[in-house]
Amino acid sequence: MSSAIGERLLQVRESIPARVQLVAVSKFHPADAVLEAYNAGQRLFGESRVQELVNKQSQLPQDISWHFIGHLQTNKVRQLIGRVALIESVDSERLLRLIDEESLRKNLTTRVLLQVHVAGEETKFGFDPEELRDFFINRKFLSLKAVEICGLMAMATNTDDNERIRTDFEKAADLFREIKATYGHYLPNFATLSMGMSDDRNIAIECGSTMVRVGTAIFGSRGY
Ligand SMILES: *Cc1c(COP(=O)(O)O)cnc(C)c1O
Repeated sequence: MSSAIGERLLQVRESIPARVQLVAVSKFHPADAVLEAYNAGQRLFGESRVQELVNKQSQLPQDISWHFIGHLQTNKVRQLIGRVALIESVDSERLLRLIDEESLRKNLTTRVLLQVHVAGEETKFGFDPEELRDFFINRKFLSLKAVEICGLMAMATNTDDNERIRTDFEKAADLFREIKATYGHYLPNFATLSMGMSDDRNIAIECGSTMVRVGTAIFGSRGY
């Protein structure tokens, strides 16, 4: 018998174009819930806390790909490196350097997205657009030895105003295209624009998202 989570997963999957990757955001939901989505075919999951990710990873099938999508504290970097297919939420140059150092130390390469701050709220993490442009103009990526910058991640303002959401996503998409066009020859894997969650994924996809991170629409609401 198919499960409710499995059915919702398939509905979400059908609602997005095949070219858009679906990250099932399982944070705050138990390993059993992840397994239901897994049994419905999902292999890519997102978590926002290191300890929770480590716990689930130890209980679940090894062919799951994990993305880290939350604010990563510098003292948790060591624990995370080597466990995830992608860190989507690199929100400062300091964190990026730390990930590079730790990856080098472990003799592996870590794939990352740079999180760009385009939302209205002051509380959201990420590079400001100007800061991000500076990072690329000054070719700071050239000194990274064990990190592969694979694109950008963005979150829109938390609002019901669809035009505001669209403006935020367009800002991120413009930056993404600009960086890709100008520095793509240095960064051949710069190809992912992660934006869109349960409520705003359709707008994000219209604006050019290549990866959506969907939690609630698959797993139901989180009991924080
Ligand atoms: C929790 C979270 C999501 C999923 O949000 P939903 O509204 O539950 O789909 C997506 N991205 C990030 C960065 C998150 O923290």
